[in-house]
Amino acid sequence: MKRPWAAAKRGLGSSTSSEPDSTPGRQAEGSAAIPSAQPPLETDTIQISKPARVAAGFTSLIKSAEVTLKEPGLSRGIKALRQLNQFDGVDCPGCAWPDPDEDRAINEYCENGVKAIAEEATTKRVTADFFRQWSIAELSRQPDYWLGHQGRLTHPMVRLTGSDHYQEISWGDAFAMIAQQLNALQSPDEAIFYTSGRTSNEAAFLYQLFVRQFGTNNLPDCSNMCHESSGAALKETIGVGKGTVRLEDFDLADTILIIGQNPGTNHPRMLATLQKAARRGATIVSVNPLAEVGLSRFKHPKEVLRLFGSGTRIAKHFVRVRLSGDLAFFKGVCKEILEEEARRPGKVIDRTFIEQKTHGFEDFRRSIGVASWDQIVAESGISRTQIREIAEVVMRSKAMIACWAMGLTQQRHAVATIQEVVNLMLLGGHLGRPGAGVCPVRGHSNVQGDRTMGIWEKMPENFLDKLRDTFGFEPPRKPGWDVVESIRAMHRGEAKVFFAMGGNFLSATPDTEFTARALSRCRLTVQVSTKLNRGHLITGERALILPCLGRTDRDLQAGGAQFVTVENSMGIVHSSRGNLDPPSEHLMSEPAIVARLAAAVLGERSRLDWLNLVEDYDRIRDLIARVVPGCDDMNRKVRRRGGFYLPNAARDDEYATSTGHANFTVSPIEPVHLEPGKFLLTTLRSHDQYNTTIYGLDDRYRGIFHGRRVVLLNPEDMAERNWNQGDLLDVTSHFLNEGAEELRTAYRIVAVPYEIPRRCAAMYFPEANVLVPIGSVAVKSNTPTSKAIVVSFAASCQTAAVPAPEEAESVRVS
Ligand code: SF4
Repeated sequence: MKRPWAAAKRGLGSSTSSEPDSTPGRQAEGSAAIPSAQPPLETDTIQISKPARVAAGFTSLIKSAEVTLKEPGLSRGIKALRQLNQFDGVDCPGCAWPDPDEDRAINEYCENGVKAIAEEATTKRVTADFFRQWSIAELSRQPDYWLGHQGRLTHPMVRLTGSDHYQEISWGDAFAMIAQQLNALQSPDEAIFYTSGRTSNEAAFLYQLFVRQFGTNNLPDCSNMCHESSGAALKETIGVGKGTVRLEDFDLADTILIIGQNPGTNHPRMLATLQKAARRGATIVSVNPLAEVGLSRFKHPKEVLRLFGSGTRIAKHFVRVRLSGDLAFFKGVCKEILEEEARRPGKVIDRTFIEQKTHGFEDFRRSIGVASWDQIVAESGISRTQIREIAEVVMRSKAMIACWAMGLTQQRHAVATIQEVVNLMLLGGHLGRPGAGVCPVRGHSNVQGDRTMGIWEKMPENFLDKLRDTFGFEPPRKPGWDVVESIRAMHRGEAKVFFAMGGNFLSATPDTEFTARALSRCRLTVQVSTKLNRGHLITGERALILPCLGRTDRDLQAGGAQFVTVENSMGIVHSSRGNLDPPSEHLMSEPAIVARLAAAVLGERSRLDWLNLVEDYDRIRDLIARVVPGCDDMNRKVRRRGGFYLPNAARDDEYATSTGHANFTVSPIEPVHLEPGKFLLTTLRSHDQYNTTIYGLDDRYRGIFHGRRVVLLNPEDMAERNWNQGDLLDVTSHFLNEGAEELRTAYRIVAVPYEIPRRCAAMYFPEANVLVPIGSVAVKSNTPTSKAIVVSFAASCQTAAVPAPEEAESVRVS
């Protein structure tokens, strides 16, 4: 039975082909007062040309200069950039790639770091007047790029019941409104407190403390949508839910696996680390459905004399794995290794490590023995020859690092897939020794730190006990809602207040129309933000925007100028201190917002003097030191040059698992059955994008310009179906929910031929999020499966929108 996914009341993009008029581009007509959950169409301007041959280089320098001049201007821009990623400077609000422990260059940043800083340090302002001029419905019909480029928010704003405009509100009235709404709830569990990964440790610690004193564990965060699968997989297998390597390990590794990751766009300075490794002879293997240029060739913008050359080849091997085929591929590599071990006993795998440090090897060996080669090859899309080639690289390795990102974590069997990677690492003993280890690369600057500080809907009992003993209250023990469960709870009407500490919840989450309806059912939605985004336009009955200081802004409290701390991908906690004049005198820091909120909501119910804490953030860090393992003496340690490493037992070759050893795991290959006409779709970022922030409309690495509504398809698949580059397609996702098929459609997407495996496709998010069913989640981690959406295509009712293009040139790595 087919069950058309009902078109949203707001009438945007998520509908069946029988309702073509509910596309974003058309929706405005006749429904002017209804805000759009999706950006308008922009296909008319899209241009396709050759993908880049080399990442970074001169163009990167030019783009950095352009954006600096355009947003903060020369002097403010230089002032911000001079301090970026320096000791005692400001931590880049972009990704979580670490800075060198020792010497740092004066320009210790990448093009995307410059864009992040320029966006924040911009001189443009979104004032109360701006909101008087623009209604919410009018704003919603502007593209995300336009919204983000209006500038920094300057005043607290409120949308009152029934109004189509935000209007100014005082901070006092805003906190009183939130307190009134929260305290009127029948249960604290009717409120949801979301955190984005940019929130500092100090704000995050206070926030979770307030939320738990209020009485709920409803603390979803963006980690639920990114590395939740990594945490679940690693905790079971090696006892710690984080990576185990340090930056210096990349100088020692002889082999580096980059799996489901595009560092050229998402963690650009990682390319400099990989370049160094490649130059000294380390073998880099890229396992990904798309050949990303960053892993092909890289020109370091700091190497002026080499800017005219052809760049450094990064990955020696490129494994073009099918979407969701990683588990089968790694099983194949393990099978090759174990078959070789059977031929040359004691010569291939690290028997000593396996015997002394691991558990479950025999079960694993048996399961690999019976795994079918036919199935491995069919599901991975990789030939036996290439699997053997990669197995030989791994067998030669004495020190191997495995890195991964969303390409692994957002699959249906993401946890099992990551555990198969761990199995491979355990076979060679690639843990707990120099130059080896696992490295889930975090995409947001403090997403890992927020977890360390207690932002999680199911923090372990010992953390909650510590809160109880330190602060004298009984924290709630019932696990809270994660992101997906929170959306469902709002949709059911069970959650009535939604508070977001940063981020753009609507655009970051799956199933855009479902999420929009969920948010609009709340009594109150509140967002702490630096800039305008689409999430401000889809609101509850009442809504607040609370404007906060950014990383680059000077943070002056009663106790003087403050700094905050963050934790990067490698578990280093360090300081971040802004040095720019804030864009408005009406802004508050995130810790101050939490403190004022807690004081207003909890009143006499809390014994803490919240306002006193934020006069001097050292007082918050003293509390963190009493609760968070490894943060003892935090105020002294964080003032060391570069900060301090958090403890990590697996890095030290100790495994705090249920068996006391590193665990081998057994996971079957779950075949992906695609019916005729169906494809698997993955979401991805463009090079002009950071998470949901759209810096520009170009993706020069992939040769796509002036637009984002594209779908990348295998050229042979296109030829078979008579689709040409530039054709407009409607993309429909198919999801079986209790026997009924749910359909969601994104309209008028431009077809682009690209080197991607057969019957695989790729679209940018957040545009593609409308296709990701809320019910499609990874086993064990509940992470939305944005890298494995079953879709079909139909010619759109529109005519071709793109001028006759050049033939897209393929990018090959090896
Ligand atoms: S690599 Fe990441 S943290 Fe470093 S400058 Fe670039 S975006 Fe910022």
